[in-house]
Formats: sequence, structure tokens, C-alpha cells
Amino acid sequence: MAVPFRRVSSTRRDKRRTHDKLSAPAVVKCPECGEFKLAHRVCGHCGYYNGVKVKDVK
Ligand SMILES: [Zn+2]
Repeated sequence: MAVPFRRVSSTRRDKRRTHDKLSAPAVVKCPECGEFKLAHRVCGHCGYYNGVKVKDVK
């Protein structure tokens, strides 16, 4: 069975564990249509952003 040749220091070990957490996407309610949308993004349901129609939605 393979055995670690050198012990990994606590600093090296902890540096390995800094990027394994996923943050939940910031989901807010669209003020125009009330659908859930991603914050700071154009609403995919009505096409509004900041009270202005940005894109046409069929
Ligand atoms: Zn909307």
C-alpha cells in the first residue's frame, strides 16, 4: 500500500480547501413580472432590466 512520503503541512492542506465551496446564485424576484430571476441580470421572462425593456420576449 502506498504511504505518503512527506506529511502535507497544515498550510498546504488548508490552501487546497479554499475553492471547493459553491455559493448559491443570487436569485431575486423581478419587479416587472414577479418571476424569479438572477440579480443584476436581464429578466428572462419579461426582458426588463432596471425598469427598461432591454430585449423582446416572445
Ligand atoms: Zn420579469
